[in-house]
Amino acid sequence: MSKRSFQLLGGPQNECEATESNDQMQKRLATLISTPVLEDGLAAQELFDPKLSGGLTYNDFLILPGFIDFSAQAVQLESQITKNFKIKTPFISSPMDTVTETAMAIHMALNGGLGVIHHNQSVEAQAAMVRKVKKFENGFITDPFCFGPNNTVKDVIDVKEKFGFCGIPITETGKMDSKLVGIVTSRDVDFLTDKEDLNKLLKDVMTTDLVVAPEGISLLEANKLLKKSKKGKLPIVDKQGNLKSLLARSDLIKTRDYPLASKIKNSKQLMVAAAISTHIEDRIRLKALVEAGLDIVVLDSSQGSSTFQIEMIKFIKQTYPHIEVIAGNVVTQEQARTLIDAGADALRVGMGSGSICITQEVMACGRPQATAVYKVAQYARQFGVPVIADGGIQNVGQITKALALGASAVMMGSLLAGTTESPGAYFYQEGKRLKHYRGMGSLEAMETSGAAGKRYYSEEDKTKVAQGVSGAVVDKGDIKKFLSYLFTGLQHGLQDIGVKNLDTLRKNVAKGTVRFEKRTPSAQAEGGVHGLYSFEKRLFA
Ligand code: IMP
Repeated sequence: MSKRSFQLLGGPQNECEATESNDQMQKRLATLISTPVLEDGLAAQELFDPKLSGGLTYNDFLILPGFIDFSAQAVQLESQITKNFKIKTPFISSPMDTVTETAMAIHMALNGGLGVIHHNQSVEAQAAMVRKVKKFENGFITDPFCFGPNNTVKDVIDVKEKFGFCGIPITETGKMDSKLVGIVTSRDVDFLTDKEDLNKLLKDVMTTDLVVAPEGISLLEANKLLKKSKKGKLPIVDKQGNLKSLLARSDLIKTRDYPLASKIKNSKQLMVAAAISTHIEDRIRLKALVEAGLDIVVLDSSQGSSTFQIEMIKFIKQTYPHIEVIAGNVVTQEQARTLIDAGADALRVGMGSGSICITQEVMACGRPQATAVYKVAQYARQFGVPVIADGGIQNVGQITKALALGASAVMMGSLLAGTTESPGAYFYQEGKRLKHYRGMGSLEAMETSGAAGKRYYSEEDKTKVAQGVSGAVVDKGDIKKFLSYLFTGLQHGLQDIGVKNLDTLRKNVAKGTVRFEKRTPSAQAEGGVHGLYSFEKRLFA
């Protein structure tokens, strides 16, 4: 049992002054000091004592509740994700080709998290995605569908049928960054349904009486102009009249504020990360990504403790000192030491815990994820290097646990793969709306033309050995709502533990004042829904 000396500071003293004499207050405080805290459960050090337990997963333990004297909304979730960068929500989307491309990276950053764009694609395609995230301005469409003057009415009708929108800017070359010459709206093509009408050229039917706005205009001003013009679209052009972006009336209502958005200090641009392999030729990939505006590079390797990774970290730190490097993956303190010594700005922790992962089965290497996060974070903390708990997150409670064990953020694949913003189309199977989700070490992913396989095999390998599977996940809807659910769930978790922010959570775990309990298999069964004939599990509304 320990004394509650830490509880003497702050609040109660002021109350006492108003109602008690000095003497009475001294006596009351003395009684408080001598009242021992009822120490229950285990400190993290005891929970992860290898003599008492083997490796633990998130399901093997619970956090004991603390004392609540604040509302859940007061809980702050800001976190340091690399030595130099902080984000307001500790959520990162995985560099996987069924998880993070442009839309996911934009929406993760808008909602205060971070997206890591995968590298299972050409250098040009990956750099273009990074560029789009950096160029994104909430409300402005920076890559609208364009046509040239010699496209036909039929082209417009096809687009309308396929994508459901009309109001297409016409530029000299039919592409962005070219001189705007007109716009084609529903009104221009609605009655052109005869065969000969369909072949008419857009230059003969387009509207040339345009209202445009200058590049650099604020969203607020552009919205005002759009409303005043009574037009459906407002093209934004540079001084030479080249089309730079477009504002749509239909998007006005959808344009929301994102107060938590992840941005680099003194910049209006969203923060973006991208993955590369540790192979030497990816130095060229990195150059293209940096030129596109990259902020953080993730070295994508299932076993990060290697000379290749050390060389790559040193190269990046020398060549692009402003780029933060998330190195990994690691699961032991020794692996962490190697990468921290090489100059890593953060570590990605996890080997074999991912939902699509068969690494432990095939390679016999890995570590249960809760132990891996705790051990690596315990070591990395001394050097101010944040740790990202990567893989195996199945629910919001496990996010709270990963952060309590010392992680600064969690990286998620399966949990985000079924959202509207993940790549790929929805399909139906047995009445369920699904999206494909696959491991980057699955044969399916390694056989595509990109670079995913480099995480898992070397070119000299005659046989590709799969370390992942491919499957499907259920529809999770719009990411804003889903992340808001994770955010609010996490705030409530911290409130129950009795801490107001993530720094205090990690400090109190290290001090031993946040306590834990092991969970037997029957305790795990008790903690789930049980004893019902049937039930529906709806997670948020
Ligand atoms: P999830 O959130 O449990 O679905 O795990 C996602 C994580 O699994 C990723 O961030 C990667 O670290 C890891 N991962 C991705 N693809 C594979 C694979 O094919 N085999 C093993 N691990 C993978």
